[in-house]
Amino acid sequence: MCGIIGIVGKQDFEIKEALKMLKRLEYRGYDSAGYGTSSGNIAKCVGKIENLFEKVNNEKARVIIAHTRWATHGNVSEKNAHPHADCKNEIFIVHNGIIENFLELKNFLKERGHYFRSDTDSEVIAHLIEEFNKENNFEEACKKAFSMLKGSFAILAIKKGYEKIVGIRKDSPLVVGIGKNVNYIASDIYAIIPYTKNFIFLHNYDIIILDSNSIRIENLKEGKVKRPIEKIDVEIEEEDNNFHHYMIKEIMEQHKIFDYIFEKNKENFLIFADRIRNSKKIFFVAAGSSFHASIYGYYLLAKLGIYSQPILASEFKNFKNLVDKDTLIIAVSQSGETADVLDAIRIAKSMNSKIYSIVNVYGSTLMRESDYYLLMNCGFERGVAATKTFTAQLTAFYILYKILKNEEFSLEELRAKVLDLLGKSRREFIDKISEVLKEKQHIFLIGRGISYVSALEAALKIKEISYIHAEAFPAGELKHGTLALIEKDVPCIVFLDEENKDETLSNAYEVKARGGTIIGVSPFNDPVFDIWIKIPDGREDIVIYQIIPMQILAYLLAIKKGNNPDYPRNLAKCVTVK
Ligand code: GLU
Repeated sequence: MCGIIGIVGKQDFEIKEALKMLKRLEYRGYDSAGYGTSSGNIAKCVGKIENLFEKVNNEKARVIIAHTRWATHGNVSEKNAHPHADCKNEIFIVHNGIIENFLELKNFLKERGHYFRSDTDSEVIAHLIEEFNKENNFEEACKKAFSMLKGSFAILAIKKGYEKIVGIRKDSPLVVGIGKNVNYIASDIYAIIPYTKNFIFLHNYDIIILDSNSIRIENLKEGKVKRPIEKIDVEIEEEDNNFHHYMIKEIMEQHKIFDYIFEKNKENFLIFADRIRNSKKIFFVAAGSSFHASIYGYYLLAKLGIYSQPILASEFKNFKNLVDKDTLIIAVSQSGETADVLDAIRIAKSMNSKIYSIVNVYGSTLMRESDYYLLMNCGFERGVAATKTFTAQLTAFYILYKILKNEEFSLEELRAKVLDLLGKSRREFIDKISEVLKEKQHIFLIGRGISYVSALEAALKIKEISYIHAEAFPAGELKHGTLALIEKDVPCIVFLDEENKDETLSNAYEVKARGGTIIGVSPFNDPVFDIWIKIPDGREDIVIYQIIPMQILAYLLAIKKGNNPDYPRNLAKCVTVK
């Protein structure tokens, strides 16, 4: 996880501007941050990047690297924040990823007298470069050091008095932004888009030597390589001060999804649908909310008589013997950088499967490594809890389903219903429910068929930002054990759709009979509901209407519990480590 940036300018660059650039990556990790410069300055802080701004006056530098961390090795502390330095405090590195052989390297370096200041895996990189720099120039030393690393890494290294950045990527993203007399490098384009539209995406094992006017790329395995410059014209989203958090802003803009997702993608949807129709075996591969969206896809394909199977990306390797050249992998990811998903598709590729992906971030590794991709086109999502991208994934599967079924559909209708759900009176009603739920220790959520997807996703939303334990079940499954946990006033949220209504209601009555409080999320009322969250009626699209009130509920619960929903504890948006 974590975000890294680097800048090399012909002129001095303001550190504060560099930190603004870093701030655009804060969604990737936010437990601590730091920067280092070619003048030999370094500063670090625990907590958000705001705290780093306080340490900067009007400092400028020609070469700057910076890091916003999501700890993997070593606790959250100033000493473990990046950049890490060599013994002489002259070489600084920032690292995204995990160095798997760091213990072995640390011992090797300690034997040679190196002194370590942190508990991270990353620090070995600075000392390794220092070790090789004894007999090689800085560039050569970096190359030698990088070639000894195992694991996943995007690294930027600088040296006091040396006006270039040397970097490498392997399984963690790095993209270069080309400016005028200044070049940029970062974990994703999002950090750089305010400054340029010209990008170079680095490949695995690419080593980059970045100057203010030149960019040299060598691949550790292939030698000299040329990577194309890609023009990317992404609109910079305006800061909207009407909202206190990105999450609620992103919830409130969900109606816009329907304007873009299909219009910009018609041809791609048809090709995608065709591939599904003609595939013998289909596996969905995803993690978190994207996995829930995949389960929705799986239910929809089942309705069409098409066999598929969702597999959690982190578990994929256990199923690799089921995968072959006739297999279609549908990889679903917001960021397109999720390490588990990338790992899974690489395994599938090695078995000659076809990879089709549904992804939000243009230029992401998943997009680039797929045989074909569908872009969600719903704009950057900065809140850690997925909201609009989840709805966009559901919409993509809904459209594919309609195409495969040869059935007309109106996204205009979906848009109108979503707008209705986002209305003020609806939010006020959910606010009252959050008052009741905020004191609860446990919440159970049930649904059958596609409504089970809503239960799963709503439980995840509630857990990740309100920290209340929430657990989802297919409604019929509760009685096989978990019903034992239901006692007086335990809340159970019940998702109803026309197709599974009667059986799910029976399960709701079973919970009620044991004292549970029933909150129905449904187009129709029933006496079993203690509270009824009325939603618009729908068929396969109903999941979209079920989940939106739940996103609002999770948000309000987080606020009432004093949590910042944009920065939930222990989490980060883009999970680039295994
Ligand atoms: N493994 C490194 C650390 O724990 C980097 C983690 C990251 O990618 O933020 O500091």
